[in-house]
Amino acid sequence: MERRVFNFNPGPATLPLPVLEQAQAELLNYQNTGMSVMEMSHRSKDFEEIVFTTEALFKEISGVGDDYRVLFLQGGASQQFALIPLNFLSADKTAAYAITGNFAKKAYEEATKLGKIHVAVNTADNKYKEIPRQEDLDIPADAAYLHITTNNTVYGTQWHYIPETNGVPLVADMSSDILSRPWDYQKFDLAYAGAQKNLGPSGVVVVLISKKMLEKVPETLPAIFNYYNLAKKNSLYNTPPTFGIYMLQLVLKWIKAQGGLEAMAKHNEEKAALVYEVIDRYDFYQGYAHKASRSFMNITFRLPTEELEQKFIQEAAAVGLVGLKGYRTVGGIRASVYNAMSRQGCEKLASFMEDFVKKHG
Ligand SMILES: *Cc1c(COP(=O)(O)O)cnc(C)c1O
Repeated sequence: MERRVFNFNPGPATLPLPVLEQAQAELLNYQNTGMSVMEMSHRSKDFEEIVFTTEALFKEISGVGDDYRVLFLQGGASQQFALIPLNFLSADKTAAYAITGNFAKKAYEEATKLGKIHVAVNTADNKYKEIPRQEDLDIPADAAYLHITTNNTVYGTQWHYIPETNGVPLVADMSSDILSRPWDYQKFDLAYAGAQKNLGPSGVVVVLISKKMLEKVPETLPAIFNYYNLAKKNSLYNTPPTFGIYMLQLVLKWIKAQGGLEAMAKHNEEKAALVYEVIDRYDFYQGYAHKASRSFMNITFRLPTEELEQKFIQEAAAVGLVGLKGYRTVGGIRASVYNAMSRQGCEKLASFMEDFVKKHG
C-alpha cells in the first residue's frame, strides 16, 4: 500500500505519523546504542532514562505537581478495574461507581467481586445517551472512592465537568480521552488509561496516582498488584512494556510540540465539529449521544437503515476512510477521532457524509 488510510478505529488507533517515522528511524540503532529499544535491558541506564523522562513529560503536560507519580504497567485498563478495589477498597468500606457505559459497567462488575459497591448513578435506562449531572450523583460521604469513566468509548459520551466529591477520592478511567484537553488532573486521586487510544500502542497502561493514595495501599497485597511497590520501583519492579513506554514518550513529545493540551483541545473540538455539523444538518443522520454529552473523541450516529449503514462503511473504506463500524451493542457508525486523527481526516469524512446523503438520501 502506497498511502496511509484515515484510520477511525476505536483502539488500537491511529498514531501520529511523525512518531511512527521517528520510531522507524531509530528502530535498529537507538541513539547510538547499537540496538533497538526492544532489545535493551530494562535495567540499563538508557532505558531508565526513557522511563524517567516519560514520567516527567507526562507530569509536565498534565500539569500535576510532585505529589503525583506516573506508572507504566501492563494488563490494560481492564486490569485496573481489579487493581483499584484490591488496593483501595477495604472490608469496612464501600466504593461508589458511576455506571455511564460499557466499560464503566465492567469496572463496576469487577469491583463487586472484591468488596461492597454503591451505585452513584446508572444511566442504562436511557441507553447511556447522556452524562449525569452533578445533582444526579449519590456519593456516600465515607466512600473509599468514586469511580467514573471520563469518556464512554462505545456510546460516544464524555464528561465535560469534573464532579465534586467533597473529599471522597476521585478515580477515573480516562482510556479514551486522556491528554485530549487541559483539565485539572490534580482533582483526580487516580487516573488510568490503556495507551492504545490516545497515547501509544497497546500493551502499556498509564496510571497517574497521588502520593496520598499510595500511602493507603495495604502491605499484604502481592507486589505485582501493589501500587505502592510499583511506584517505589519506578515501574521497574519487573520487566515493563519497554517498547510501548518508548512509543508513549514519543507521543508525549509530539503533544508538547503541537502546543500541549490547549492546542490538543482546540484541534479536537474543531475536528469533531466538522462531523457533528453534518450530522445536525441532515435528518438522514441521527446522532446517538445527547448534544450536551457529546464526545470529542468518539462520534456515534445512525443512518435510516442497517443496509445503508453497511453501504456507508463499504463506500467509506473504498475512499480510504476505515474503522467506522459502530460497537455491536450500539450499531451504526462510530468515528474515533483521538488526538492523532488529523483535521484532513475529519474534513474528508464530513465531505464523504455529505456526498453519501446526496447519493442515497
Ligand atoms: C478500551 C477501553 C477499556 C479497555 O481497555 P483494555 O486496555 O483493552 O483493557 C477500558 N475503558 C475504556 C474507557 C476504554 O475505552
